[in-house]
Amino acid sequence: MKLSNNFTKTTKDFPKDETSLNAQLLIKAGFIDKLMAGVYTMLPLGYRVYKKIEQIIREEMNALGGQEMYMPTIQPKANWDLTGRWDEMDVLFKMNLSDVKRQVALGPTHEEVVSPLVKKYINSYKDLPFSVYHIQNKFRNEKRAKSGILRGREFMMKDLYSFHESQNDLDKYYEQVSVAYENVFKRVGIGNETYKTYASGGTFSKYSHEFQTLTDAGEDYIYICDKCRVAINKEILADQKNKCPECGNSELREEKAVEVGNIFKLGNKFSAPFELQYTDESGEKKDVIMGCYGIGLQRLMGTVVEVCNDENSIIWPESVAPFKVHLISIKKNNEAEMIYNDLVESGVEVLYDDREDVGVGAKFADADLIGCPIRLVVSEKTLKEKSVEFKRRDSEEVRNIKIDEIIKEIK
Ligand code: ATP
Ligand code: MG
Repeated sequence: MKLSNNFTKTTKDFPKDETSLNAQLLIKAGFIDKLMAGVYTMLPLGYRVYKKIEQIIREEMNALGGQEMYMPTIQPKANWDLTGRWDEMDVLFKMNLSDVKRQVALGPTHEEVVSPLVKKYINSYKDLPFSVYHIQNKFRNEKRAKSGILRGREFMMKDLYSFHESQNDLDKYYEQVSVAYENVFKRVGIGNETYKTYASGGTFSKYSHEFQTLTDAGEDYIYICDKCRVAINKEILADQKNKCPECGNSELREEKAVEVGNIFKLGNKFSAPFELQYTDESGEKKDVIMGCYGIGLQRLMGTVVEVCNDENSIIWPESVAPFKVHLISIKKNNEAEMIYNDLVESGVEVLYDDREDVGVGAKFADADLIGCPIRLVVSEKTLKEKSVEFKRRDSEEVRNIKIDEIIKEIK
């Protein structure tokens, strides 16, 4: 993409009420725009990052056998009455349909949709197990929407639901999902900072698990066991008597963190109210056993920003960077254009700063702000040596490389 065609611009300003680092950096670099607290637009650059994160999650969910679909936002009140969550869930957005007598919720999650949905297709044990997921817009009337895109009132979530004959079968699948989650967080570049964290399991299992990433921007505290490389959350700290559930170690380290995902054994919590049952081999009717597994996409993107930055701005991990290469032309657009075309033809994602009315300093500052992994500069000086200047965003080292070796160098 040519920067001259990008309709957004970088800016030094951000809304005064925007106190969170992730949103400040993303607004300054032109990745997102703030419409109101907790509600953001994904601008073209930001949407590229978002889609890379989405694709990584999708690949990992597909590898688990998850079947992708898309469930609606508008959900009938009756379904929420059945589970008792119409009155229980404080963040539920409630709306009136125009025939007034009927109310609906804007979906904050989808157990109330997916349970009656799969009921239409499950008869016998032969129909189990399976899992479905979607990547879909959630609505939550959050009271604290001060963490930038970490806590939106409207945000995309990947929610996976699995359906099983037995607790044992759920247990096995749950462990597979846990590994897939670790893959996701590694692949987006926050594996080292992310801890599998024991949390309350509700009625149906002793624990659930959150995936918590260390950052001061987080709203949670976790307690890390360095021996096992796991953590427990604050909610269960006292129940656990301040001990690691895996090794009993009581030297736990307190850290601030943000929950980027969670996995939960639901048991029959939702299958019971919706009478989601199957017939087992002996002909007996039994409740389907369920699990649910969520990841917030903007929260994950904001967390990457909180973890991967320096005093200048964002340093995108290559896997989620909007472009791999940021190519700058210093008054040498013809030559730079040829390099740009060659790179694009070789399948390299390049952001080409071809702007003619912007000075060198501003172009360099923008490259830092936008944060692509590799910066290439074409100038009269470099061209004399048939070279371009090469610099990685995460390093201070600047060196020249030959034009015909660019591809080899960056691949
Ligand atoms: P929190 O305790 O942070 O409010 P939660 O327990 O409400 O999170 P879930 O309902 O389990 O979260 O949602 C699944 C995932 O969706 C979370 O792990 C998180 O990644 C994401 N998520 C939850 N609320 C938001 C939000 N307001 N904005 C962005 N992502 C969110
Ligand atoms: Mg919440």
